[in-house]
Parts: sequence; structure tokens; C-alpha cells
Amino acid sequence: MAKSAKYVYLFGNKKADGHGGMKPLLGGKGANLAEMSRIGLPVPPGFTITTEVCTYYYENKKTYPKVLDAQAREGVAAIEKIMGTKFGDTKAMPLLVSVRSGARDSMPGMMDTILNLGLNDKTVLALVAATKNERFAWDCYRRFVQMYGDVVMGVQKGKNEDHEPFEVVIHGFKHEKYHSDIEDSKLTAADQQELLLRFKALIKERTGTEFPQDPWKQLWGAAGAVFGSWMNDRAIVYRRKYGIPTEWGTAVSVQAMVYGNTGDNSGSGVAFTRNPANGTKEFYGEFLINAQGEDVVAGVRTPEPVAQLDKQMPAAYKELDNIRKTLETHFKDVQDFEFTIQDGKVFMLQTRNGKRTAMAALKFSMDMVDEKLIDWKTAIKRNPADQLEQLLAPIFDVKAEKAARVIAKGLPAGPGAASGKFYLNADRADAAAKEWWMDDKGQFVLNKHGDKLKQPVLLVRNETTPEDLRGMIASEGILTAKGGVSSHAALVARQMGKVCVCGAGALQIDYATKTLTADGVTYKEGDFLSINGTLGNVYAGQLPTAESEIIQVLVQKSLDGKKSDTYTKFATLMNWCSKVTKLQVRTNADTPEQAEEAVAFGATGIGLTRTEHMFFEGNRIDAMREMILADSVADRKAALAKLLPYQKGDFVGIFKALKGLPATIRFLDPPLHEFLPHEDAAQQDLAKKMGVPVEKIKQRVKELHEFNPMLGFRGCRLGIVHSEISEMQARAVFEAAAEVQKAGIKVKPEVMIPLVGFKRELDLQVAVVHAAAKAVMAEQKVKLNYMVGTMIEIPRGALTADEIAQTAEFFSFGTNDLTQTCLGMSRDDSGSFLPSYAELEIIKTNPFASIDQSGVGQLMKIAVEKGNQSRPGMKMGICGEHGGDPSSVRFCHKLGLNYVSCSPRRVPVARLAAAQAALEDEVGAKPKGAKKASKAKR
Ligand code: ADP
Ligand code: MG
Ligand code: MG
Repeated sequence: MAKSAKYVYLFGNKKADGHGGMKPLLGGKGANLAEMSRIGLPVPPGFTITTEVCTYYYENKKTYPKVLDAQAREGVAAIEKIMGTKFGDTKAMPLLVSVRSGARDSMPGMMDTILNLGLNDKTVLALVAATKNERFAWDCYRRFVQMYGDVVMGVQKGKNEDHEPFEVVIHGFKHEKYHSDIEDSKLTAADQQELLLRFKALIKERTGTEFPQDPWKQLWGAAGAVFGSWMNDRAIVYRRKYGIPTEWGTAVSVQAMVYGNTGDNSGSGVAFTRNPANGTKEFYGEFLINAQGEDVVAGVRTPEPVAQLDKQMPAAYKELDNIRKTLETHFKDVQDFEFTIQDGKVFMLQTRNGKRTAMAALKFSMDMVDEKLIDWKTAIKRNPADQLEQLLAPIFDVKAEKAARVIAKGLPAGPGAASGKFYLNADRADAAAKEWWMDDKGQFVLNKHGDKLKQPVLLVRNETTPEDLRGMIASEGILTAKGGVSSHAALVARQMGKVCVCGAGALQIDYATKTLTADGVTYKEGDFLSINGTLGNVYAGQLPTAESEIIQVLVQKSLDGKKSDTYTKFATLMNWCSKVTKLQVRTNADTPEQAEEAVAFGATGIGLTRTEHMFFEGNRIDAMREMILADSVADRKAALAKLLPYQKGDFVGIFKALKGLPATIRFLDPPLHEFLPHEDAAQQDLAKKMGVPVEKIKQRVKELHEFNPMLGFRGCRLGIVHSEISEMQARAVFEAAAEVQKAGIKVKPEVMIPLVGFKRELDLQVAVVHAAAKAVMAEQKVKLNYMVGTMIEIPRGALTADEIAQTAEFFSFGTNDLTQTCLGMSRDDSGSFLPSYAELEIIKTNPFASIDQSGVGQLMKIAVEKGNQSRPGMKMGICGEHGGDPSSVRFCHKLGLNYVSCSPRRVPVARLAAAQAALEDEVGAKPKGAKKASKAKR
């Protein structure tokens, strides 16, 4: 008979069935518990039920594989052997366990853990007898019934309830007996017993069933709840945000309890091997004396910094400090770990790679290279590409901040600067963040491009819980009055890169009146506050911001790079990236300023210049409108002649800014009606200005109206029907090129024809371009090097890429339009159904933000192959905002493209992602390196 599957992996006593490399099967928590056990750290024994059981559970109507029960019983027996106690023992010290969830990637606060399982009316008496610590034993039991009632039996806050039902019972009891909110640790054994009676009654009342006394029934109930929590709302929201597939499932770890709540020589804590907010190499974290683990993260009592342990429990502190070093030398990365001290003895309960801010990631990686813990290539991988933009985020204007009044101080938990209208409730914050931002005079607030902005919002709470996640996502920053650096708020802020100040104790929050009082002043919801998450300061009002140091050095050139530590590290990282990258990063820029900025960030040229933007400024729009309204080719040519000098001037500026780097210039793309006024008043105005009857304008607007402008008269179709437009644009490009080249600066224009689906379309346009080039070269007596290529942005273009490549000298994938046309989905109209699609997991990531690799990606692959058939080694790249998305960049690298192009500020992100993609190949290609990597994981 075939051996049945192994669903249970043991750990403990410096051994383990599994290891740290088995995260897909054991979950992050289970795999690292095994790993810590193997390397001899003090881990309470236990076992992990694999993620395969979770998959089985959902595929088989929430049942388990047959063999699981026996394997779990063996697991419990193994724990009993190591601990010398028995599960459900009513005579001697009983074995109690925790039942813990753990997905492959940690999902902080998403899933519920149950502690002290195995207690019942009889075993609690055995625990009292064995420990001679009545208060402790009844405290454990009370906590267990509360957690079990909540998580497993579902006794939770109803729609009309403001507070958790168990908390209501505790609150009521405290006031009945003590007339105040005394701390939980002050409750006597008798109090706990009374609470237990009330809890059990509450459970019975709410669920109609008794709290289960049988430890095995408790264990399976808890395991089921963990598997069940994989599909709870919070977990789903989190997975969606971070793109974690539902199929992964969670593992369940069952582990012998150790007790941080036995008295003042015990406690629980969370720590980092280095500071995860700013990267400093220091033992960082916090602990609570006489508490179980949940208390620390819950933010109910504000914990003490871990450094204090040195005074209170010096031996335990020393041991922890050694463990901290062991963890780093073993895992070679900053660890975030949980520990419990039971009567002076240290136990390790969890470790994982610490979530970090971009600033901390940068510092860790550089420091660890200096310490020879990792090499520079590993350092590149340690910086999350999608977070890198945090380093470019604004900071408060130094002068304004100095002058501002600090109304409260808290812990700096998420660096950066944020201002916003504050809200005391996550739903209201979420709703407010969706509204347009109006100033005091009732005018829309606009950005520098003239687009309307949504209101910036700050979420302010006493403490946050996973229920607040949506509100936290919507906010610019998070401010809490209670809780420390490992509170939920701090954790989430670090992960999302949100600005965060927590534990600002001076804030008095009144949820009922929706006000906040600090430093003697009361603020009401919707007022502006500003927080500095690097310093931990809270200010009233809206403080002006300044550019980050990196931008001050590179773009504004107002700061000496040598004086900025952040810049120096950033520059080192970017240099390393250049050493390994295969895929180049270009930029999408329409002005010399944008081009210069992107080059400062390391762009190797322009991948997309949109010429239409150039027609909106000043009087240009008049000439443009004249051109559109023209009745004859002659009139149109006359109008175009007015546009030519403008366009040429723009190109001169761009070529000069690029100093010899290539520039891909796309010819006119949008439908012409976009340039005409649609409102009556504006039409009247234009008519007067141009001396034509307003009817004529209305008529032309009507003619140009299209039902589907995205699929209408646009792209190369314009230049084909009105070849004089392309002719003018080509002339502008080449005249500018000639001028700049004569001034001694190299120029590399790459003319790009948009929206091509037929080879013949391209042939016609290329002929116009070549003719213009020839004419300009003859007139100016210069020789110009240029290329003519096309965008691949409609499926027919991709499918016939071999034909098109006979004419096109390069391809640039217009992934925005290619996505729209491949999916038959208009980006601007997708807002009405995409959220539902995401909810239903039809579309896992927004295809307009990250390339739809299995759909659109296929078209790209075909085009790459076919293009190379006709023109081997053909230059190819992408333009469109996907170029700044790390996973799209990785995909383009795999396709073998030459470059991606993205907006200037995303250039560093794309460079980092491109370097990381190249490094991934290295691991795959060199078996030696790969072997080393897997060995390190054991
Ligand atoms: P989460 O994933 O939410 O962090 P955990 O499974 O890590 O949940 O557990 C929550 C808390 O309970 C943590 O502080 C952890 O250290 C503590 N804990 C878990 N198992 C045990 C145990 N066997 N003994 C003591 N404390 C435990
Ligand atoms: Mg944990
Ligand atoms: Mg397009």
C-alpha cells in the first residue's frame, strides 16, 4: 500500500521534520519555527498541519483527510513526551497548546490565534494545583474561553453593538465590583471565575451551544476556525491588496504553551534585530511584564521598550540579545521575532523577515554589505522595488516645520510627512478620501497639471485593529494615541509605507463628539492635522511640504549629495543596479524639464514623447484649432505652418536636455475633437477669435463626434488621411535635430507611428517621414541618423508583426492601448465594473496597472517572435505606465525587450526592478549559486 500523505510536521527539542525553506507547505510561521528549532533556539515543541489540508478542507466541504486525526494525535503525543505533561490531564500539570495560523507570506493580524487550549473546568484545577498560582490559572482559562468564544464560536459584535460582547461583560463586572476600569492583571482568581461563568452564559445565549469541555473537540474546533479564517473578509481584503493567491491556503501550527503571565518575572514581547523604521542597527522592540503575547500587539497596554529589559531581567535580556545576533547571522536578514519569558526563561515563538520601510531597507542592505553579511547583489534584492518611491516622497518644509507648534509627540513608526483632514473612524476616513478636495472658498483644489484632487485624509484612532484596514489604505497617514512600535497601526504602516505616528498619549480622542483635544485645543473631524512619522511629531493644520533629499540633490540641485546620507546610499544602490541590469529604463517625457529629471534618475533616453501635449499651451491651441477647422488642404497647411516652429522649438529643448541619448517621438495620436471646445460659451469665444460663424464650429464638433473615440479616427489614421500633419511633424523633428546637431550635440531621433495594424499604414507614413528627412538634410546640408518604427498597440499589429517589422525599425509596445483593445475594455470606463471583478477574483490585479501577462502578454510574445523573424535583434521596448510597475518590468525582461519606459519619478523603481529581474536569471543559470541558496535555507 502506498504510504499515506504526510500532513503533520513536528518541531521541538532542537530538531524538526521541516525547515525554513518549506514555507509553501508549512506556512511562514511553521517553517521558521522548524528552522529555529533546528538551529537550537529555545522553541516550545509543536507540530504544523500543512497548507495542503487547507486546500483539502475547501475542496471537500470543510472536512479533513482521514489520516489527519491519527497524525495529529501522534503530534500531540510527541509534544507530551518533550514537555512531560499530558493534554487534558486532570491530575497533574496539563499540557496546554496554542493553535496558530500561518500562510506562506505573513499576514499580520489577519488570522486568529487561540492560546491556552486544553483548559476546561477540570484541567484548570490541575493547573492551579501544579502551579500553585490561582490567579494565573484562572486568568489563562478566562482568556481561553474569551478567545475561543470569539474566534471559534463566533460570539462577536453585532451590527448595532459598539463593543465586543466579552469586553462589555468585563467592563460591566469591573464597574459592578470596583467602580472603575481596573487593569486586567489586577483581577483576582475569584474575579476570573465569576467572569468565566458570565462568559459561558454569554456563549450559550448567543450560540445556543455550550463551551466545549473536551480538549480534542476544542483542538479541532480551533483548527477549523483557523482554516475558516482564510476566507474571512479581512483576510480577503489583505490578499487582494498584496496579490496573494487564494489557492495558497494557510497552515495551522499547534504548539505547547509557555506563559508570560505567571507574574513579574515573566512577560511577552516583539522585537526586531534592527530598527525597521529607519534602519539603525539597534535592538528594537517592546515587551510587557506579566502578559501573554496577544497583549503586546493589541495596543491596549502601552509596552516598554525592549532596552528596559536590561534592567528588569538582565539574564533574559542578554540571552535575547545573543539570539538576536544568531538570527541575523543565520537568516542573513533583519528578523521580526516574538518571544515570551516564563519565570526568567526565554522562549522563541516566531521569526520572520521584518517588514521595513524603504528607508530602512536601504540602510539595512548597505550596512549588511559593509558587515560582510551579504554581498552587493543580495543587497539589490533586499530593497523592495515597489517601495522605492517612498524615498522620493515629500518631507515637510524645514522652516515651516520649525515654526509650527507640536501639539503631541508619539513614536516615529512610519517615516515621512503627511497632512490631511483627520477622521476618527475608518469608514468615515475611507468615504472622505473618495471625495473631491475643496478649499475654504468652495473651489476644487487642483494639482500642477490642473487635475482635481481627492481630499487627503489622516486616520486618527486610540489604536487600530484589522477592521480598520480599508480606512488605513485610504489615508495618507495614521496617528494613534495608544500602542507602541509593534502595534497593529505601526505594523501595517510599515508594510504599506504609510506615514505613521503611534502612541501619541497626549491626544484625547472623543469618538462620541468626533473631536480630538491636544495641548488645550479641541479639533473636530475634518480639520487638518500634519504628522511627521520620522520624528513622531503631530502638528495642527496643514504644513507645506518640500522635496525629498534625493530630489533636492538630483533635480533641484539645491543640496550637495555628499551631505545627504539617504542620497549617498540611494546612489550606491542605483550604481549596483546598472552593473547587472540587461533591460534599460527610458522615460515618458514631453518637456525638456521632465527629460532632464528622468536622466538625473538614470533614464537612458526617452521612450515616449507625446507630441499632442505640445499643442495645448498658449496660442498653439489656436493654430491647432485653425488646422482642424480648415476647409482645404491649403488652409490646413497654412495652419500647420504656424505650429511648426512651436513643435520644432520643443524638440530642440528635448534633444538638448538628452545630450545625445535617444528620443522616441510619437506622432499625433488623439482624436481631433479633443482639441475643440465643447461648451457653448467657449465655442462662441473661438468663433469670435477666428472670425468664423459659431455654427461652423458646432458643425465641425458634430462631425468629429465619435461613439467610440478610442477606436475611432485617431493614431496613424489621422496622418494617413491628412498626410500634411505627419509631414509637418517630421519636418519639425528633423529641423530641430539639424539645429541641435550643428550646435555640437548628438541627436538620435526615433520617429514612432502610433496605432498601426496594417503594414501598408506604416509604409505610407514612413514614406512621408523619409521624404521630410531627405528634404531637411538637403536644405541644411547635414546627415542625420534616425530611425522610424511603430507602436504595437492593437492586436492586429501584434499578430502581423512579421509583416510590420519589414518596414518598422523598432517596436514599442503601447501596453495601455494594447490592454484596452485586447481585453475590449476601456480604461476610463472600467471603474464601474473592475472593483466587482476584483472582488470576484475574475481579474486579480488591475490590468491597467500591471500587464495582464497571460492575455496581453501573449500578444507581446507573438510580436517579439514575429518581429525578430523579419528583423533579427530588432530593438523593442514598452511605453505606457506599465513600465513603472515592478512585475511588468520583470515580465518585459523575460520577454527579452531592450527597454521599458515610464514616468520620470518611476525610473528608479524600474531600474531596481530590472536589476532584480536580471539577478533572478543568475540564480537560475548558475547551479553553484542555486545550491548555495537552498543550503542557506536549511
Ligand atoms: P499572529 O500571527 O497574529 O502574530 P501568533 O500565532 O503569532 O499570531 O500568536 C499571537 C500571540 O500569541 C503572539 O504574541 C505569540 O507570541 C503568542 N503565542 C502563540 N503561541 C504561543 C505559545 N505556544 N505560547 C505562548 N505564547 C504564544
Ligand atoms: Mg505572531
Ligand atoms: Mg496608444
